[in-house]
Amino acid sequence: MTGIDRRAFFKQAIIAGSALTSLNAMAQAPAKVAESDPQAVALGYKHDTKLADGKKFPKHDASQACHNCQLFQGKPDDEWGGCAIFPGKQVSGHGWCSAWIKKPG
Ligand code: SF4
Repeated sequence: MTGIDRRAFFKQAIIAGSALTSLNAMAQAPAKVAESDPQAVALGYKHDTKLADGKKFPKHDASQACHNCQLFQGKPDDEWGGCAIFPGKQVSGHGWCSAWIKKPG
């Protein structure tokens, strides 16, 4: 293997390794809950709290979102995170459902 071949080989190996790491991370990330999921429909879950049905859920307020819900398992600034109501799935940090409970503090 010449010096150039070796460099090209290592470059390819690094690119392939990075791609595999990304694929692995994607494969391990829990699925995002679908708004059409029967439980999501029952709870009025929306990925965007502004799209919640205010007629059906009159206590909803646009300031309520998953990121400030006690049941959200992500960090407050996470785009997506776990939720105790939807085990094994992720909800949007900007989402909302009728099980919203104000996070203390
Ligand atoms: Fe979002 Fe809270 Fe409803 Fe879970 S329970 S979907 S964190 S509002």
